Amino acid sequence: MRAIKAGGTLGKCVFCSHTLSETKDLRNKHAKIKAGKWICGACLLDLKEASFEVFFAYEEEEAEYRRKLVKKAHKKGGIVFLYIDDNSVQYVKNQREFNDWPGKRAVKDKLVRILFQNLK
Ligand SMILES: [Zn+2]
Repeated sequence: MRAIKAGGTLGKCVFCSHTLSETKDLRNKHAKIKAGKWICGACLLDLKEASFEVFFAYEEEEAEYRRKLVKKAHKKGGIVFLYIDDNSVQYVKNQREFNDWPGKRAVKDKLVRILFQNLK
C-alpha cells in the first residue's frame, strides 16, 4: 500500500467517501492506496480486528498445511521445501524430482530452503 505524498494526487475513500487532503488528521495522514483505490486512516483502523482475524487464521492454515506435508514426507519419503521469496511450501517425492525443480542451485542461491527430507 502507498501513502499520501505531499503534492500527490488525492481522491476519496472507497468506503466512506471522505475526500482526502494533505492534512495531518487520522483519516488523511494514514490513508493508503490499495489496488488503485484510496482507503482513509479511519476506515483502515475499522478493519483492524478483521485484518488480525484473517492474519491469524491464515497463519494457522499455513502451519497446518506444512505439518501435513512434513507428515507425508515422513511417512512416504520426500522433501518439503520453502520458497523464500513468497513463503510458500512445496513437497516432492524424491531427490530426482527435487533436482528437476527447483534443484540444488536454488538452495545454494538461497531461493529455496529445505524444511524436511526423508530420502528412502
Ligand atoms: Zn474512509
